[in-house]
Amino acid sequence: MIFDVMTLFPEMIEQACNYSILKRALENDIITVKTTNPRDFTLDKHKKVDDTPYGGGAGMVLMPQPYVDAYNSIEKLEKSVTIMLSPQGEPLTDGIVNELAKYEQIVMLCGHYEGFDERIREIIKPREISIGDFVLTGGELPALCVIDAVSRKIEGTLGKIESANDDSFADGLLEYPQYTKPREFMGLKVPEVLLNGNHKDIAEFRQNCRVERTKVKRPDLYEKYMEFNKRVNKKG
Ligand code: SAM
Repeated sequence: MIFDVMTLFPEMIEQACNYSILKRALENDIITVKTTNPRDFTLDKHKKVDDTPYGGGAGMVLMPQPYVDAYNSIEKLEKSVTIMLSPQGEPLTDGIVNELAKYEQIVMLCGHYEGFDERIREIIKPREISIGDFVLTGGELPALCVIDAVSRKIEGTLGKIESANDDSFADGLLEYPQYTKPREFMGLKVPEVLLNGNHKDIAEFRQNCRVERTKVKRPDLYEKYMEFNKRVNKKG
């Protein structure tokens, strides 16, 4: 997977990918992260990439020319998708992450200041993705969220691909509670069933925990899960 990130702050992307699991994925050529700085494409001698909004208002707007030229300079592979990070986009979910992981290349446009001149959207026609209903100063952290979440879905990034399959959201439920050593800590014991080595009992215990904690913590997901089960049972 190639991640091509268009950003005014390439170091933010490069440095954040240089740790732990992402670093190993880069070293093993499972992922490649490239950056393109629109400032390198400006025709203005002061390397200006933003200007005041027509019609007035606070802040600066990213100009179309450096962004469109920077975008056109990126070589697109056959299976490529372009994303604009934007608080106005569709909310990022595990389902979208799975979809994105099927591509060979993800090109990402990170905004800053007041965001993009609308014509950048009209010309490039990206898929717009938001990481939540709040506004950040720039698209770099959201782009890193996409890089991180998608990379986990690519075989070879995690030690065992199962660790992604068992995670929260993978089948619509939250993950079961996890325990490690010691068996008892400050009077709190690891549930007995996890110690007895009976795989069937463990699987059943974990599944019940997943359903129960999804019901409590995320009633919206629980509803969907129950609806889905109802439909499957009807068909069967
Ligand atoms: N004026 C814009 C608006 O109200 O929709 C917000 C611009 S924001 C300050 C600057 C940039 O940060 C955006 O262009 C986008 O790339 C990024 N950004 C901010 N919040 C985001 C979010 N929740 N999800 C994805 N990107 C976000």
